Amino acid sequence: MSPEPLVDQLYRLRHSLAHILAQAVLQIRPQAQLGFGPPVDTGFYYDFDFGDEPVTADDLKDLTKRMQKIIKEKQPFENGTKSLDEAVELLEAGRQTYKVEYARELVDTGKAADGQLGFYQNGPFVDMCEGPHLEHTGQVPKASFSLDNIAGSYWRGDEKNPMLTRIYGLCFESPDALKDYKARRELARQRDHRKLGRELHLYTIDEEVGVGLPLWLPKGTVIRDSLEQWAREEEFKAGYQRVSTPCITRSQLFYRSGHLPYFAEDMFPPMKLDDGDEYYLRPMNCPHHHKVYASESRSYRDLPLRLAEYGDDFRYERHGSLSGLLRVRAMCMNDAHIYCENDQVEGEFNAVMNMYRMYYSHLRIGDFRVRLSLHDESKDKFVDNEPEWQRSEVIVRDILKNNNIDFDEAPGEAAFYGPKIDIQLANILGREETVSTCQLDFAVAERFDLTYVDRDGSDQRPYIIHRAPLSTHERIVSFLIESYGAAFPTWLAPLQVQLIPVADHVQEYAEEIKDLLVQNLIRADIDDSNDSFNKKIRKAVTSKTPNMWILGGRELEERSITWRRYAVQEQETMALDTAVDTVKRMNAERIMDNFDDVSLPVG
Ligand code: ZN
Repeated sequence: MSPEPLVDQLYRLRHSLAHILAQAVLQIRPQAQLGFGPPVDTGFYYDFDFGDEPVTADDLKDLTKRMQKIIKEKQPFENGTKSLDEAVELLEAGRQTYKVEYARELVDTGKAADGQLGFYQNGPFVDMCEGPHLEHTGQVPKASFSLDNIAGSYWRGDEKNPMLTRIYGLCFESPDALKDYKARRELARQRDHRKLGRELHLYTIDEEVGVGLPLWLPKGTVIRDSLEQWAREEEFKAGYQRVSTPCITRSQLFYRSGHLPYFAEDMFPPMKLDDGDEYYLRPMNCPHHHKVYASESRSYRDLPLRLAEYGDDFRYERHGSLSGLLRVRAMCMNDAHIYCENDQVEGEFNAVMNMYRMYYSHLRIGDFRVRLSLHDESKDKFVDNEPEWQRSEVIVRDILKNNNIDFDEAPGEAAFYGPKIDIQLANILGREETVSTCQLDFAVAERFDLTYVDRDGSDQRPYIIHRAPLSTHERIVSFLIESYGAAFPTWLAPLQVQLIPVADHVQEYAEEIKDLLVQNLIRADIDDSNDSFNKKIRKAVTSKTPNMWILGGRELEERSITWRRYAVQEQETMALDTAVDTVKRMNAERIMDNFDDVSLPVG
């Protein structure tokens, strides 16, 4: 189906298996009509119209056996071409109405070269197809595929068309690769942030509130507050000043910024007021920060000026693309804009990249890719200022090189006002998402008429760096949930210490410890249920609480606690005061104790 299929062995293998599947299906459902059957990046599928005799999951075993038999027969794949008339005659003889429709379309739209349509035959099975395929079915490696599941799918993806049955198969180059994919998929299923977010009460989506508008529950709010607190401290140390600006604004600001009309379809529609003015929910914070800059006259002495805000933004994501916390309509961004002079750009950009690296290495997010997004001179979606593009792209590229950061270049992917660095994170299944970007902007200062008074008294335009290293709360938390399997380090964990008294007479001691912890800003709770000791431990483990403090008669006598960590097997008894000080240090230093190679900072 794709115009230029990647011609490699795996593509041929998957494509050939789609034909073998269709051949096996026609053995048990000779009346089935065929839709499309392409290779995909995990294997292949084929769509069928079974009329009133559907194939179900119960048939997959039988179909697999039939496919294996076809493979054993080493049927050669032979190709040829037919004119439209010949093709239609052949397809109509097989009552393949979907294929007839597609054949006519290929010829009508000129996609069939010289009006000729490709066909492939193996054994008795003939399919209209451009290939390529294996030489014969015997080349399918043993145990490299498995039929996976069955789903409904509209013909050509259009809900006005008939619903077909899609049979999916997985296929990789070897049995080990197939096994590995299945294991990773199972892990991804267990760690899916939508599943864990619900089970651990982190956030909820309420239809009456609206899709794509997550409600952060108390436990999830702890995580985002803790990240935000960290960002505030780091930004304070790096000389940022915080601002607070409204989420709603008059349309004219977005005309000035260029969001209207260019970004309009990603924004919520406007609200019209009595006086005829239109207001928009903001999709980004930049215009408001530029107005903060413009609120007083600036001199070179004020630069660099670094304005930071965890800002709420709203974007009109299409219903079908919304997903948990990853794709939402309301988000809160770790945003800041740095206004600086020409010769400060490099130092500021460097500092920002160091901040990115510090966050990512601290959070142990090793598996990210850096993309340098550049302009494309031939396209008119970029500001027309070639010298500035050249200059700023060199700056950003050099900074990446000097920091020994590996990166790929992506021409044509820049922001309209300047080059940017995209941080791409891969999930367990290798699917990449842009988690945050850092942009160098040489154009917007002019749109907003931003200036500063230089040493010689002349007015100059500042450069602007847009940065959001911790992304949006929604995106980074969804990523961390899946990366850690929701086993957060103590400093991010909703409940930090679970107190587990093992005898009635230590109840008072447990309450005393809880008070002490809370007074030290440590999130603690007592499990005073009637559950058995083992069940209490199991509950704490299931809820991924990083620390369990077990309290028995000996601990009461010694004023100690027995500490069991989520991430490690061993437990340790220590004096109560030492234990409290240890958690305080874990919080202050943001220790990543959810990794089993990290020991407690005792003493
Ligand atoms: Zn911005």
